[in-house]
Amino acid sequence: MALHWNDPVTAVRGIGEKKASLYRRLGITRVEELVRHLPRDYIDLTRICDLAESVMGERQLVRAEIVGKSGEQRIRKGFSIFKVEAEADGLRLTITFYNARYAAEALRIGQSYLLYGEVNGTLLHREMESPMVIDSARAGEFLPIYPACAGLSSKTIARDIEAALSSLDGPIPEILPGDLLRQQALPTLDWALRHAHRPRNLAECGKARDRIAFEELLIFSAAMLRLRGARDLRRTEPIGPVSLAPFLGVLPFLPTAGQRGAIEEIFSDLSSGRVMNRLVQGDVGSGKTLVAAAAAYAVWKGGLQSAMMAPTELLAEQHLRTMRGFLAPLGMRVELLTGSVKAAGRREIERGLKAGEIDLLVGTHALLTGTTRFSSLGLVITDEQHRFGVAQRSALSSKGRAVHTLVMSATPIPRTLSLILYGDLDISLIRELPPGRTPVSTYCIDSKKRERAFRFVRDRLDEGRQAYLVCPLVEETGEETPGTGGLISAVEYAKRLGEGAFRGYSVGLLHGRLRPAEKEAVMSRFLSGEIQLLVATTVVEVGVDVPNATVMMIENAERFGLSQLHQLRGRVGRGRYPSSCILITDAKGQTAAERLRAIKGTNDGFRIAEEDLRLRGPGDLLGLRQHGVPGLEYADFSAGAPLLEAAQRAAAALLREDPALDAPQHVSLSQAVARLIGRVGERPN
Ligand code: ADP
Ligand code: MG
Repeated sequence: MALHWNDPVTAVRGIGEKKASLYRRLGITRVEELVRHLPRDYIDLTRICDLAESVMGERQLVRAEIVGKSGEQRIRKGFSIFKVEAEADGLRLTITFYNARYAAEALRIGQSYLLYGEVNGTLLHREMESPMVIDSARAGEFLPIYPACAGLSSKTIARDIEAALSSLDGPIPEILPGDLLRQQALPTLDWALRHAHRPRNLAECGKARDRIAFEELLIFSAAMLRLRGARDLRRTEPIGPVSLAPFLGVLPFLPTAGQRGAIEEIFSDLSSGRVMNRLVQGDVGSGKTLVAAAAAYAVWKGGLQSAMMAPTELLAEQHLRTMRGFLAPLGMRVELLTGSVKAAGRREIERGLKAGEIDLLVGTHALLTGTTRFSSLGLVITDEQHRFGVAQRSALSSKGRAVHTLVMSATPIPRTLSLILYGDLDISLIRELPPGRTPVSTYCIDSKKRERAFRFVRDRLDEGRQAYLVCPLVEETGEETPGTGGLISAVEYAKRLGEGAFRGYSVGLLHGRLRPAEKEAVMSRFLSGEIQLLVATTVVEVGVDVPNATVMMIENAERFGLSQLHQLRGRVGRGRYPSSCILITDAKGQTAAERLRAIKGTNDGFRIAEEDLRLRGPGDLLGLRQHGVPGLEYADFSAGAPLLEAAQRAAAALLREDPALDAPQHVSLSQAVARLIGRVGERPN
């Protein structure tokens, strides 16, 4: 029976209602989605390993002959073990299956099988647990491994996809225009999908996956360009030109060249008659708040109000103080609105906003999502937003009509990648730090020197300074064992330090499991100096300024990304005292060493980001792996930025030639772009 691309999966031979409901859990309802469900990995069945040379603890493929079986052992109700004895390359191999009697029974004594799994045991007697059993006839192929779920194994998925591919009623519909395929020397989608599922060799596999990733990146880039194009059409009353002189007149220092550049770009946006959508990217401590203040000043001069949003109450309070310091002398009224502002105060602020008496309102993100009404909102400033991305921004700007937006991010990312996260924004870069900072000295030590480092920290505390100790122990990996979770270890670690090396000092604990109010309470006790040593997970990453903190000590430094380490280091060196960052790691290995050398060698966040990109690929850098970006499911970026750059160039060329994408050869592409824009708009994150 001929199968159509748009049919429900139940049209595939072997998929009934029950299986279809399992597929739904993987987000698969139609044949297209099934066929686009790509392997997450492949087992190279050409590379059979000699058991005698197998590396313990690693997953490998071995060929073994079954020589005996023990019966099933019932350990308890619902849990049984089945052991199978085998021989391979002259060695004994014991295979254990758990609750998988059928798998064990299917193995015949005297027959050879390919087994794939982790090899353990002793030198003479190897063991494998629950290996994957592969038909010997398939040696020489690449076996796809699919993302699976309970009740739906990779094997089943492979069979269903094969069934679908073999009964499709024609080639898979092409999305990319023929010209583009030729020009980029790309295979068709039909070829790519078929070969991504069943590659005959690595080269084919790479070519297939690159084709699919390219398409995705092209759609993504085109969507970004269209969002930007749509935005450029949004008109508003020009503000200014505003003279910067009065603002500069009240500053206690001269702005850096980077700050000046960013301010000029903002002022020119504001006076252009178009709605501003700008990102100010600058390393921690580069002085982005001043730039934001200048923007709010210009908007005030234009007779409009501004709102500034911070991710936490504490940061909002910090911004309030800074912004008041800059703007109150110029006659602007700056107020704070957070969850802790009491009803009476809130009413007064709401009245002031509506009456147009408040010129800048600083608050948490709840600020704008609530019922707050401005009389004439002209600018929304968002701080430290790199975790949010396009969806949230578009949700926000739809609040006010034609409101300018300014986003401030302390995560420097290489230019090509910024298009993924910020493709709809114009970017201003602040590349330097204000003069007169004492740079942070960075040390890298192994755990044998930990006690010495503790002594160093105690000396600083005795001098009246404060310190951070960051450890990645809390649940943030999401991999804790229930009951004994990693959480306990962080709590325990803080406790141990408080009773041991830091006995007599005040030790606080901050981790991701605390409620926001609890986090804020801990942070404000640290800010006030009541807590001397703050044991924390990466939640301290987001920027509260504690100038008295001069030591940042990081356990298991190898587990953090370079940019993340750099952000953490940026928490110190904010005052007039010399500061240090101590990285503790026992990781050997080339990459680990290279990475830590990179962080030690420079204080330039952009260079570190480039290095991070080189060493780990963009997925990690952007946190895509954890959070995902709608529309980027296949581009795993292991191929790196070149594919992305090519896709960006191709998208730009396409839109130059056909801005509305309404030429007949662009219909499918245009639909895909529209679908993605719809998805980006509707998903909260
Ligand atoms: P970030 O970019 O991390 O948000 P901030 O705006 O918090 O940085 O600024 C960090 C510190 O640098 C603040 O204490 C601020 O007053 C100071 N600062 C900002 N600009 C300058 C400047 N041009 N010269 C000297 N100090 C500055
Ligand atoms: Mg800041």
